[in-house]
Amino acid sequence: MPEPLSKVAESQLAELRTSGLYRTLRILTGEQLPRSVIDGKSVINLSSNNYLGLTTHPKLKAAAKEAIDRYGVGSGAVRTIIGTMEIHEELEAKLAHFKHTPAVVVLQSGFTANAAVLGPILDDGDLVISDALNHASIIDGVRLTKAARKVYKHNDMDDLERVLEETKAQNYRLVLIVTDGVFSMDGDIALLPRIVELAQAYGAATMVDDAHASGVLGDHGRGTVSHYKLDGQWDIQVGTLSKAIGSVGGYVACADSVRRLMEHRARPFLFSTSHPPSVTATCIAAIDLLESDEGQQLIDRLWSNTRFFKQGLTDLGFNTGISETPITPVIVGEGARAMQFSDRLFQAGVFAQGIAFPTVARDKGRVRTIVSAAHTEAELSEALTIFEHVGREMGLIG
Ligand SMILES: *Cc1c(COP(=O)(O)O)cnc(C)c1O
Repeated sequence: MPEPLSKVAESQLAELRTSGLYRTLRILTGEQLPRSVIDGKSVINLSSNNYLGLTTHPKLKAAAKEAIDRYGVGSGAVRTIIGTMEIHEELEAKLAHFKHTPAVVVLQSGFTANAAVLGPILDDGDLVISDALNHASIIDGVRLTKAARKVYKHNDMDDLERVLEETKAQNYRLVLIVTDGVFSMDGDIALLPRIVELAQAYGAATMVDDAHASGVLGDHGRGTVSHYKLDGQWDIQVGTLSKAIGSVGGYVACADSVRRLMEHRARPFLFSTSHPPSVTATCIAAIDLLESDEGQQLIDRLWSNTRFFKQGLTDLGFNTGISETPITPVIVGEGARAMQFSDRLFQAGVFAQGIAFPTVARDKGRVRTIVSAAHTEAELSEALTIFEHVGREMGLIG
């Protein structure tokens, strides 16, 4: 006889508890703000991906409400049947213009977007070459295909070249190099210019997942390809509408042929309902905002807050690793210590997520901070004072 479900679930939960990985969800009361009420306690929020504070922007809220009045609350079908509303096409045209690419396909989430594009383009006889620290949704997206896979050391271009060199002896149809644009644990940026050179030399195609770069890096937040001025030289850019854009969704910016192929073969496009019109309208308003002076000012503010906070942490003697972006880890070593650091910070009034093995290496436990454009300098100074006190108490800094 097989085991009852409850026993199977409970035994896995017991394993999580033994290894110290069991956790409960923190609950947010009210809006996602720079200072939020989390588990009933008002704290400075350094854990949200709401980089530009758009989750509560009045223009975006108004756009969502208006769309509900005009189009209702749901699209009623998948894209390929009758779930493609004019407003969906409008967002895609706007994003293609914004990204300077021939076409864009919008999906339900960034997670879904990776599977949606990888499935149709990859098959038996193809090879994916993936950065060792790529996001789970890329890994899962690749797993759903029959392509062979190889991994290169994180952001190590010599290692990428070594893997590409090995492909010469093989007869792959397509070789696709895939990387995150900004890496979510360390906040470092992928080396796209070198990847382009190598891709050209070895005939490979290129894909970047810009979830943490969308609305953050590049001209008006166009992403890493824009940041490096590589427009027209990169094959596939995945973006998210769930982080800096403030709503939910993902998109694939690509050639027209890739878009047409996705319309026929991308399983989340064919078999999962499209966004409610309010989400789509919110994203349209967000892209309009990004392209305006206000948008660029918010991005500038995000980066000045980033510099201020990062400098503050390093001045205090914390190890912020190799971060180049608003994602700033404070690396403390052992995982249990990172969790304890996060708990003490919370008690003292700052929410910064603790992250331990297996998400990061055993000796690289950390709390991860993300500032936003919406934080005031007073809030960030207060957060630094709290980091200083707790860091001293725990002997993390001198
Ligand atoms: C957050 C993230 C995603 C998922 O995006 P959602 O829109 O939240 O589904 C995908 N890729 C990377 C690199 C991410 O950081």
